[in-house]
Amino acid sequence: ATPTAVTVGIGRGAELGLLIRNGEALEVSEKLTAIVFDKTGTLTRGKPDVTDVVALAVPEDRLLAVAAAVEHNSQHPLAAAVVRRAESAGVTVPASERFTTFGGRGVSAVVDGEEVLIGNQPFLEEHGVTVPEGAERRIAALQDEGKTAVLVAAGADLAGILAIADTLKPTTKRAVAELKRMGLSVTMITGDNERTANAIAREVGIEDVHAGVLPQEKAQEVRALQSRGEVVAFVGDGINDAPALAQADVGIAIGSGTDVAIESGDIVLIRDDLIDAVAAVELSRKVMSRIK
Ligand code: ADP
Ligand code: MG
Repeated sequence: ATPTAVTVGIGRGAELGLLIRNGEALEVSEKLTAIVFDKTGTLTRGKPDVTDVVALAVPEDRLLAVAAAVEHNSQHPLAAAVVRRAESAGVTVPASERFTTFGGRGVSAVVDGEEVLIGNQPFLEEHGVTVPEGAERRIAALQDEGKTAVLVAAGADLAGILAIADTLKPTTKRAVAELKRMGLSVTMITGDNERTANAIAREVGIEDVHAGVLPQEKAQEVRALQSRGEVVAFVGDGINDAPALAQADVGIAIGSGTDVAIESGDIVLIRDDLIDAVAAVELSRKVMSRIK
C-alpha cells in the first residue's frame, strides 16, 4: 500500500503546480544524482525569432519567400519563426510541393520547380551543397551569440542564412543553480549544433553539454548515465523527448509541451516553470525523510 506520506506529498505537489503521476516518482526523486535538460522549449521559451537575414545568392525578399514556402509545412519552432518573419516582411510566399522532414536536421520541398533544402550545415553538406568559407565564418559568429543558423539552399547553391534566437525562460538560471546547490549534476542535451549549445549553456551555467544529438539518441544518453550508476531525471517538452522521458528514472515534462511528452512524464510542471522541478526534488526529500 502507498504510505500516507506519499499520498499527502502528491496532494502537496498539486498545490505547488506539480502533477505527480505516481508515488514512485516522488520516492525516486529523493535519490536523484543527475538531471538532464532538453534545450529548446525546456531551458528556453521555445518561441524563437529570426534575428539576422543573410542573403547570399538571392535578394533578401526572395530568400524569405522561398524559406517560408518550405517552412510553413513544418511544425518545428524554427519554422514558425521563419514564417512569421516572411509575413512581417510582407513577401508573397510561393507554393511548395513534396515537403519532407529530416528529423533533427532539416526540411526540404520543391518551390518553383527547384529543390529547396533548409537546415543545419551537416544536413546541407550531405545533400551536396557547398558552404563557402566566408559563410562558414559568418555562421560560427552567429552561433557564438547563441543563435541557431538555419541554412537555405536552392538547387546546389547556398542561397542564404537565417539566424534564429530563443530566449531563456525567466527562472532557468536560478533553477539550475538551485539544483547544483542540492548536489545534482546538471546536463544539457540538444539537437542544435555545438557552438550554439555551448553559448546557451554558458549563459545558463551548465558545463556538461551534449549537442548535435539526434532525436532517437536522447534516451541513449540517459541510459549511458544510468549505466554509470547515476539516478537520472530528464526534463523535456518535445515529441523527440518522449523516449528519454520514459527511459529516465524520473521523467519531468513541461506542461505546455507536446501531448506525447506530457503522457511520457512521471511529473508534469503545470506552470512551465523550472523552479517547480526544484520544488519536486525538495518535496520528495521532505516526504521521504518523514517515511524513514
Ligand atoms: P532541439 O533538440 O534543440 O529541440 P531539434 O532536434 O528539433 O532541436 O532540431 C535540431 C536541429 O535541426 C535544429 O537546430 C536545426 O538546425 C535543424 N532543424 C530541424 N528542423 C528544422 C526546420 N524545420 N527548419 C530548419 N532547421 C531545422
Ligand atoms: Mg525541446
